[in-house]
Amino acid sequence: MSIASTTNHAPPALSVRVDGAPAAGCVPSPPPGLSYRRLTQLARAIVPEWRGTPIYPVLTSEGAPIAFCPIGTWGYCGPHLDVTLHPWLQAGRRWRDRGIAFWLDDVAIIKAAREACGDHDDLHATISRQWVAAVACHEMAHAVVDNFAARLDDVTPAFETFARTVTAGWCLKALPELPASYFGHEAPFIRVLLHLLHRASIYLGYRVPPAMAFRSDAYGLSSIWSYSAAIDDEPARMAGLPFSTITSTPPPAAFAKLWADDMARHEKERHEEQ
Ligand SMILES: [Zn+2]
Repeated sequence: MSIASTTNHAPPALSVRVDGAPAAGCVPSPPPGLSYRRLTQLARAIVPEWRGTPIYPVLTSEGAPIAFCPIGTWGYCGPHLDVTLHPWLQAGRRWRDRGIAFWLDDVAIIKAAREACGDHDDLHATISRQWVAAVACHEMAHAVVDNFAARLDDVTPAFETFARTVTAGWCLKALPELPASYFGHEAPFIRVLLHLLHRASIYLGYRVPPAMAFRSDAYGLSSIWSYSAAIDDEPARMAGLPFSTITSTPPPAAFAKLWADDMARHEKERHEEQ
């Protein structure tokens, strides 16, 4: 399917950093963060439902049009982000068809990792890769839970303009105007996220820590480590299954109880505030 281009947000060129094999006798550190190619491979590897679907990781390091990135966030996604960014993806010769798009401010993440690691270059490379992978898993969890893959209807140029207007308007909102607390990060989201983090750790060959993917304190919830303990070995037991199968089964009882306890606490706090 093709969609008429309507904007001039074209990057000069989308450079794909290929994770090539090191030359003999020389083992250079890989660049910090994760490349578009690696993130695409990761998404296909850990979400079986997406294997025939285009995946579009959108990286600020590649000059993605900042007007469509919410202020102050490290990642976000939406069911029409691919449509919103269609002209930019097409200019970079990446557009294939409707697909799953998620935005990562890898420049900000890599900068934060540098501030945390100081001059330790190897540690910086490791932490920044983990952090980018973790934020990518967070955004992918939204796309899985909200089933973006089932919402890839054909779009018209008029719809593309609408999607861009809505996205740009939303991105201009300051964070305090956005829904607060755990909205959008309920138990099904946390469950899917923990599965994705487990799969990503295996696929990438290094741990993708839950705490890098989920700010429990910002959402007023129990620690992600508590949820990780409560879900127990479910991610390992269901590692090869599609998410539609996983989400059609109840989560472990301890996981469900932890969420119920969090909601009861929120309810109590609401009453006390009134
Ligand atoms: Zn989120």
